[in-house]
Amino acid sequence: MEDYVLIGHAYNKTVRIYTAVTTTLVETAHTLHGTWPTASAALGRFLTASAMMGLMYKDGERITLRIKGDGPVGSMTVEANGQGDVRGDIMNPEVYLTYHDGPKKGKLAVGKAVGKGFLFVTKDLLMKDYYTSSSELQTGEIADDFTYYFTASEQTNSSVGLGVLVNPDQSIQTSGGYILQLMPGVTDETIDQIEQVIASLPPITSLYESGNTPETLFERLSGGTGVILDKKSVRYHCTCSHDGFLKSLQSLSIDALTPLADEDHGAHITCHFCKKEYQISEASIREIIKKKTS
Ligand code: ZN
Repeated sequence: MEDYVLIGHAYNKTVRIYTAVTTTLVETAHTLHGTWPTASAALGRFLTASAMMGLMYKDGERITLRIKGDGPVGSMTVEANGQGDVRGDIMNPEVYLTYHDGPKKGKLAVGKAVGKGFLFVTKDLLMKDYYTSSSELQTGEIADDFTYYFTASEQTNSSVGLGVLVNPDQSIQTSGGYILQLMPGVTDETIDQIEQVIASLPPITSLYESGNTPETLFERLSGGTGVILDKKSVRYHCTCSHDGFLKSLQSLSIDALTPLADEDHGAHITCHFCKKEYQISEASIREIIKKKTS
């Protein structure tokens, strides 16, 4: 199934809703990074929220999101843009933790795997400066952390739901989520109604597993008042290139470049996001050094 996000409004245009299915892009991330189930769920939820958030920006604008937690997955980075492209990286993909007791017994322990820390969001809005804002992780379960981020850092009261279901063979069975944002003018009555809708909503993975789609999820969240305005494809897409890595080498100092030429006779670079490998020749590095010294 193709991955996509529905964007629309509901409750007399006082609520904006995004609903997503992201199974294919999360499967791509799982394959590229070799994530174990809990890491798949953590990175998959993060990619899903970021894909929806990226669509809040215009074409050409870009956001970089970082979750830095003290749990075993370490940090995760995701880039997203207004065209529906996302790519991500995870420090330690080999994490498989489940809850041993309590109401979540047997479920993937994403909160434990991520731990305590911060969510950082850097926006490249095609202006001179980048804008970075951050908020403290609430539970490390990702959805709660985004809900808090939108409220605390962007002053937009939101509700975020995310879910990734992993098959016994560790491939991705289903992945998706929603972001619901309250707009100015929202009434208390609508807020009450939304709280009830969300409280009665089964986990995203159960909904999708039982045949629901972003369309039926949208319908449910909007209490029948919704209007879908757009449907955007989302995908895991890396923009790395030989030229891109050459440019990043140009920003290194001569002291850092010289041993790459003299001792390593070139640079071997692996892209963090897609694992593609690039070889930068000794001649190219000498040329960069020459330009820097002239
Ligand atoms: Zn790449």
